[in-house]
Amino acid sequence: MYRGEQDEQPYVLPCVVEAEKRVIAQPPNKEYSGYGGSAAFCRLAAELALGPSNAALADGSAVSVQALSGTGALRLGCEFLSRYYSPSNVVLLSSPTWVNHPHIIARCPGLEARPYRYYEPSTRSLDYEGMIQDLEAAPEAAILVLHACGHNPTGVDVSREQWAGLLAVAQRKRFLVLWDVAYQGFVRDLEADVEGLRLFAASSLEMLVAQSFSKNMGLYGERVGCLTLVTDDAAAAKGALDLLHDAARSMYISPPIHGGSIATAILGDPELRAQWERELQAMADAMAARRHALHAALVEVGAPGCWDHIAAQRGMFSFTGLTRAQCQHLTNKYHIYLSPDGRISLGGLPVAKCKYVAEAIKDAVE
Ligand code: PMP
Repeated sequence: MYRGEQDEQPYVLPCVVEAEKRVIAQPPNKEYSGYGGSAAFCRLAAELALGPSNAALADGSAVSVQALSGTGALRLGCEFLSRYYSPSNVVLLSSPTWVNHPHIIARCPGLEARPYRYYEPSTRSLDYEGMIQDLEAAPEAAILVLHACGHNPTGVDVSREQWAGLLAVAQRKRFLVLWDVAYQGFVRDLEADVEGLRLFAASSLEMLVAQSFSKNMGLYGERVGCLTLVTDDAAAAKGALDLLHDAARSMYISPPIHGGSIATAILGDPELRAQWERELQAMADAMAARRHALHAALVEVGAPGCWDHIAAQRGMFSFTGLTRAQCQHLTNKYHIYLSPDGRISLGGLPVAKCKYVAEAIKDAVE
């Protein structure tokens, strides 16, 4: 959750306030939205992730459904795979990964989660070699979950060159990639944050894309998301869309309309969209500034150890490397709340509090 620099309250984007006014000014509509939600929203969301000139979107071999935010998109995608994807039941998850990934997979009959190496604690960076080795050793046609950007919980992302290496492995192993796109625009910018996804999309690999608008539009409680299936066959895609609708129907019938209408109003109007892009960039820049302020404060107060990994990571999270006991100490003595794995959310750490946090960390590690 991104909180403002001054008031520290959950931030409502001004473009969202304006879009909501426009939505409310329309005649009220409380009708079911249909299993797949709003077609206009789906199109705009899919274009945001895949790019407006994506070939699969143009020829109908990519299909989308509106989902209950990123979690709902992942859940629907995994439900679909559990029911209809027969080449493999193995779902490859980075180690570590977002805590909810294994929970979602555990609820989908037949799917089996397996970790692949991703983060190396001793270097506090990506274990790219280990990742490639584990993927090479994984079953053919397994489902590979990739975080598009702003990896949760580590803040350690894959580089452009490494994406190319991963694509080669994914093609050789015929993986079905499930992209988790929870932070597009929240890390660097809207384009750079999906460079890996776009690279994969330009290949012939089939994939699923689970998008969330919680962070980049601040629509957390509205549950706005989208699931897109990219294939290379328009007839197969149409059949798959029916199956996705069927899966949605048995779980919740249809997604809520209000939040999706707000996102559609923003994405579909050039002026509001430009405003959104500016406001989104300001949030991304603020989090980068917080990250660098925390790093500088740790150096300034002389907290023992090297903290360069904090400056090198990206996005909303800082994986500090603090132990569980040190995290506990921060919470008990200083009321600093972070995950027991040492993950701090920069969304809730204004620059003005970085010195306080750095001094507390110094005390915890000494
Ligand atoms: N994926 C990742 C990696 C996340 O960090 C989150 C949110 N914490 C989500 C998906 C889903 O969030 P939401 O359901 O709010 O869109």
